Amino acid sequence: MGARLLCKTCKSIIESSGPTDEVYCSCGKVGIIGNKPPISIKGRHEDCALVDDKGNEIFVALELPDMSDEEVYKQLMLSINHQIEAMENLSQGARFSPCTNQDLLAHLIWIQAVLKIVDRRLAQASSSRKRKTETKQQA
Ligand SMILES: [Zn+2]
Repeated sequence: MGARLLCKTCKSIIESSGPTDEVYCSCGKVGIIGNKPPISIKGRHEDCALVDDKGNEIFVALELPDMSDEEVYKQLMLSINHQIEAMENLSQGARFSPCTNQDLLAHLIWIQAVLKIVDRRLAQASSSRKRKTETKQQA
């Protein structure tokens, strides 16, 4: 698995194939250098996204604040199901080949996205508990 980057402007997915290989998207807004750590990404963070082998945006949920938590949760579940499926279908050789720091980063970003939703849910739950207590005190 190499590093794959999606340009949000021109929608092209670029992948660098060598340690000094420098690849830019078709509109030139974002680029990627190297396929092994340290990989460097050119361009603004909000203009691009890390994507998995099937081109699914790994942290799409964070870029769509108008989605409900339920929708975000559903998207994240779909995304992890795709990833598990893809890994289960790997050949023995591919399954036991080493992964890169970039692969680990992609998964950490995914876990972070999930934890942010949990955090938001907990905050909502505690503020509604607070409101209930306040109502009780008034009565
Ligand atoms: Zn582009």
